Amino acid sequence: MSRRVGFLSHSDFSKHRAGYTHPENPDRTEHILKYLGESDIYSKLRQVEFQSSGEEWLESVHTRGYVDLVREMCRSKGEYLDGGDTYINEYSFAVANLAVGACLVAGNLVAQDKLDRAFCCTRPPGHHAEKSAGMGFCLFNNAAVLARYLQVQHKIQRIAIVDWDVHHGNGTQAIFYEDPSVFYFSVHQFPHYPGTGSEMERGANDGEGYTLNAPLHSGSDDSEFINAINETWLPAMTEFRPQFIIISAGFDAHFADPLSECKMTSGGFKTLTDIAVGAANESCAGRIVSVLEGGYDLAALSESVHQHLLGLLE
Ligand SMILES: [Zn+2]
Repeated sequence: MSRRVGFLSHSDFSKHRAGYTHPENPDRTEHILKYLGESDIYSKLRQVEFQSSGEEWLESVHTRGYVDLVREMCRSKGEYLDGGDTYINEYSFAVANLAVGACLVAGNLVAQDKLDRAFCCTRPPGHHAEKSAGMGFCLFNNAAVLARYLQVQHKIQRIAIVDWDVHHGNGTQAIFYEDPSVFYFSVHQFPHYPGTGSEMERGANDGEGYTLNAPLHSGSDDSEFINAINETWLPAMTEFRPQFIIISAGFDAHFADPLSECKMTSGGFKTLTDIAVGAANESCAGRIVSVLEGGYDLAALSESVHQHLLGLLE
């Protein structure tokens, strides 16, 4: 029997755009939707309609000063949050909040057992966003706000975030670095943007041991990513016993992706998904919310998301 998997996307995500060619652009989610729409998977997914802002939850993770800064910069039509990577336009604040809102709606439905799992086909991505700084195309940390929301709203204590975007999720790591209730794992190309994510970074104080990094050399392929998830992440999960799993699902480790030198295939992402699903079935009744992070070759991204969804449906 296939699982009840929610799919959340929104045409308003396309309003966040740069005035020039940028890899993180509306074509990403639009191409995924078109690709899925032409495949037979679309009818198996439960389309979740939503029009929900995550704004009131931003400060569970971000500082008020940073939230105000992003709001004000969008209002005054500023162009960048950082040196030039992270553009904004007049709609970006609302769109980024819609992305957070999608994650919270998905989290609610899964926590209330109305769905088994969900995929948030959202943008902008979130895992580079720190408490008081946006960077790396990320404004607000979608996965991190979701984790806090589940803890506060649904009294879910132990949450695991698994991040297989090819870039290290410095923002998510920093937010939970001293927190033993959220286990953050990242597998990524190293050294690479943003520079963090060595094996030495393992959390601090009460959070020591609850951050785990599996840095991989450039050129790493399916087998190396799969090994990292199987041999590093999975044993840690067996011990941690998460009550909910969040996937920071980036697909930019694909061989066709312009922003990395890794060599994964779209089928490799199915295997990573299968392992996460197995861990979720074992520890938390299968509960997963997956959130789109990177992935910048349109065909590779769409194929990989398709494979990911096949895994979530099993
Ligand atoms: Zn990335």
